Amino acid sequence: MTDYDLVIVGTGIGGGTLAWALRDCGARILLIERGDFLPREPENWNPTAVFSDHRYKARETWETPSGRCFKPGLHYCVGGNSKVYGAALTRFREEDFNTLEHKDGSSPNWPVSYDELEPYYCRAEKLYRVHGNTGDDPTEAPRSQGYPHNAVPHEPQIDRLADSFRKQGLNPFHLPLGIDLGNQCLRCHTCDGFPCRVHAKSDAEICAVRPAIDSPNVSLWTNSRAQRVVVHNDAVHALEVDCGGERKTIQAGTYVLSCGAVNSAALLLRSDGIPNASGMIGRNYMVHNNSALMAVRPWELNTTTFQKTLSINDWYLGENEWPWPMGNLQMIGKVQASMLKSARPNTPLPMLKYLANRSIEWWVMSEDLPDPKNHVSLTSEGRIRIHWQPNNPAAHRQLLKRARRMLHRAGYPVIFSQPMGIETNSHQCGTLKMGNDPATSVLDPYCKMHGLSNLRVVDASFFPSSGAMNPALTIAAQALRVAEQMIKSFP
Ligand SMILES: Cc1cc2nc3c(=O)[nH]c(=O)nc-3n(C[C@H](O)[C@H](O)[C@H](O)COP(=O)(O)OP(=O)(O)OC[C@H]3O[C@@H](n4cnc5c(N)ncnc54)[C@H](O)[C@@H]3O)c2cc1C
Repeated sequence: MTDYDLVIVGTGIGGGTLAWALRDCGARILLIERGDFLPREPENWNPTAVFSDHRYKARETWETPSGRCFKPGLHYCVGGNSKVYGAALTRFREEDFNTLEHKDGSSPNWPVSYDELEPYYCRAEKLYRVHGNTGDDPTEAPRSQGYPHNAVPHEPQIDRLADSFRKQGLNPFHLPLGIDLGNQCLRCHTCDGFPCRVHAKSDAEICAVRPAIDSPNVSLWTNSRAQRVVVHNDAVHALEVDCGGERKTIQAGTYVLSCGAVNSAALLLRSDGIPNASGMIGRNYMVHNNSALMAVRPWELNTTTFQKTLSINDWYLGENEWPWPMGNLQMIGKVQASMLKSARPNTPLPMLKYLANRSIEWWVMSEDLPDPKNHVSLTSEGRIRIHWQPNNPAAHRQLLKRARRMLHRAGYPVIFSQPMGIETNSHQCGTLKMGNDPATSVLDPYCKMHGLSNLRVVDASFFPSSGAMNPALTIAAQALRVAEQMIKSFP
């Protein structure tokens, strides 16, 4: 038995940010992480090691209802998925917090407004060193402060591309990014999808967990996997943890889960006595409708190194021809031929090299809608099962159509697109949605579980809707907001 004031399970953006915010509040805090520190080694930047050998991916399989096994896109290490993320740190639009009508349904409002979250977005942007230009993006919500750092400049070919989009009447903007520009960041071509070997990416380990564990009040157990929470009456009484084969029971005043939206729901489903009046634990799983798009200009080499600086939101909320939300377009890190090989094993490498040397790459991201039928469950052996039927596909098709048209007009005649499947769960959210009413939601607006006095969940499982923007900054902002409320309850 070990006693703490607070136990936080998971050291990703949610758990790591919360620990950082509470590090000096006087509470004795224990962070529990099932993985270890991700090593700094040459393989960090080796596309074959990262994308073909999946060196840093979780060695775990999940399954579909039909029993097909797949490897989820998860990273069990200090910092969680943010160790390999693209560091696009965007706020949700103001409209994302309200009810939004889509072609195929309705995206619900949040119990927290944009205005309430805005000050915490500002703090999260400082913590994660976000670079951006205020006023660049036509859909940008009001900001009380500018970005802490100027936008990462485009390289020449991306600048030209932005110009071409402007000539088409579009409003391209600099994608807000969390990197240590001007200091350690080399603006290399192994950022998005790779761990940063020089620790210049603003991930949860670097920006939150390491500074948190510098505090004498905060301890970190790595290689320690929370198995279940033990509930007595209306409170969590203990947490059972597997520490490298040894079972430990931890007691704390307050417990916070931040294992990622699927794993937090699974942990609760594995535990006995969890109140679930709404029946929503594990339900409303969302991941966005995503496609990768590769546009090739056969007569010109793409010499860009750091490509992920440009984004388009002109169709985010719809337009005259299609008055429903369509989503966001953003460039991704420069794809290399060896990264394509795992997706296209039958295409000869020289052909992939030819294409990758002449292509630019985009992420096409549309909102998917909460549907209780899309959910997380456990098999009889305790394995995670994902029930997922993508919805709202028309919006995504419309966005893809516009992305193709814009790129054709910019001089890219050859365009390939690849829809993402169930394995691409990087933007997972919604499985423990927050709301004011315990009859329809799992968490309250400060992420405290309805019906339990001392349990909170601060990963993206609290999202009532997925928006069509990258989730990490919103997770961080809410963790800072929750921390502020929690501080009041500590001595
Ligand atoms: C390749 C890639 C690119 C991405 N790019 C972007 C981007 O550019 N912008 C953006 O906003 N988002 C991006 N994302 C998504 C973003 O990384 C996630 O939304 C965010 O990191 C989620 O943070 P989290 O704290 O909710 O969960 P996680 O990062 O999943 O962290 C959960 C942590 O809990 C630990 N854990 C799980 N179960 C247990 C257990 N039982 N016991 C103990 N520990 C446990 C895990 O090891 C992990 O460290 C990307 C993701 C990927 C994979």
